[in-house]
Amino acid sequence: MGTMADRDFDLIVIGAGSGGVRAARISARHGARVAICEESRFGGTCVIRGCVPKKLLVYGSAFRDAFEDAVGFGWNAHLPEFDWPTLIGAKDREITRLEGVYRKLLADAGVTAIEGRGRLVDAHTVEVAGRRYTTDKVLVATGGWPVIPPIPGHEHAITSNEALDLPALPRRVVIVGGGFIAVEFAGIFNSLGSETTMLVRGEQLLRGFDDDARIEMAREMATRGITIHARTQPAAVSGDPRGYCVRTDQGQEIDCDAVLFATGRQPNTRGIGLEEAGVKLRAGGAIAVDQWSRTSVANIFAVGDVTDRIALTPVAIAEGHAFADTEFGGRPRHIDHRNVPSAVFGQPPLAMVGLTEMQAREKHGAVDIYRSRFRPMKHTLSGREERTMMKLVVDAATDRILGAHMVGADAPEIIQGLAIAITAGATKAHFDQTIGIHPTAAEEFVTMREKVPAAVKLAAE
Ligand code: NDP
Repeated sequence: MGTMADRDFDLIVIGAGSGGVRAARISARHGARVAICEESRFGGTCVIRGCVPKKLLVYGSAFRDAFEDAVGFGWNAHLPEFDWPTLIGAKDREITRLEGVYRKLLADAGVTAIEGRGRLVDAHTVEVAGRRYTTDKVLVATGGWPVIPPIPGHEHAITSNEALDLPALPRRVVIVGGGFIAVEFAGIFNSLGSETTMLVRGEQLLRGFDDDARIEMAREMATRGITIHARTQPAAVSGDPRGYCVRTDQGQEIDCDAVLFATGRQPNTRGIGLEEAGVKLRAGGAIAVDQWSRTSVANIFAVGDVTDRIALTPVAIAEGHAFADTEFGGRPRHIDHRNVPSAVFGQPPLAMVGLTEMQAREKHGAVDIYRSRFRPMKHTLSGREERTMMKLVVDAATDRILGAHMVGADAPEIIQGLAIAITAGATKAHFDQTIGIHPTAAEEFVTMREKVPAAVKLAAE
């Protein structure tokens, strides 16, 4: 094991995703001798098989709306033909370019990149591809992986990993789950022309989001032709690549060309020596950490999805950066996991920051609700039957904005700005003082004046 000076490195990072790469670069910039190992491609879930390729497919699929909407504005448009391999090829080239950028950033920062799966031999030794390296500190940033429930025929199903690389666009797709990934892929496939069916085990999509936003999202998706079966689970999948059949626990049989399970992800904590090194896991397999990202072993740390705090790239990056500043920069700090904004890139998108109405009522008691649902100006001419929904949740006692929710075009771009205001402690009075930008959808957030009576739910309007 040796002492600090004769160890090979000051820090070895296991996993070159968003959190690991940021931590490695910043630690090296602070003067640490850093290595990072990766068994797959550099960039991790977000760059290789998550946020980035997904968003490129969202952009690609959203052109359908533009072509359809153009007609009402005088364009004599015909829906052009779409070619899936062209989109996938272009997406793959961009991912390869980004992977190169990640590798270069690490090299420029002086970080040693080691190809292969890292495994802890003991708290100060990491083995990669048959070689052992000693280190003072270890950061585990191994991310997560999709889970498929073990129903009969589950081997026929794909996850988001494969959905991003299908050889052909499925004519009919069944999507199991109602979370982030399910909603985003339903939007992509539906807009590209696949007949899209969702099986959601609960009452409604997107558990954890504000109920009004969930209702609006489900309504918009249904208007676009997505079939959503609530309170429904798959019982079995049968068939072969020429065609599958999903049998549900409600007795339906749905024929399709692809079955996508988007039923959650689990932390990658198996087979990397965590038990051997004495690192404690939580129920569910995530690494237990404190707010400083410290594990139960003094020199071992963990950030990102493997800790299952908030499974979002910017959170992993912030955790990794704070770890590096604390351990190697002489500036101890940890991040605040409250008021983390998030977005579901469905069609239309949904975004939120802060508390849902229900959480706010539980935590603060009396809250005031402001809500607006309207036809966006663009669709007065396009004729599209789409509504935008915005909602503010306000603490009645202090006037502070506790949550902002939106379903509609540009929701993620708009909510990002509101997240700053809410982080800064903005009150409803601040929103009221703010002058709108006209004509926009966003101005609605600063012009809502009428409280919604407590008993009136969006569904009832
Ligand atoms: P989520 O946890 O968001 O959703 C999982 C869904 O699957 C839920 O609807 C859940 O239902 C359902 N489910 C779970 N187990 C079963 C089962 N056995 N049978 C049927 N349904 C089941 O996970 P995702 O996989 O969509 O995404 C993982 C995480 O990645 C997200 O939570 C998010 O943090 C992150 N992510 C973020 C994105 C973004 O920022 N835009 C995009 C994609 C992912 P129930 O609600 O009843 O539990």
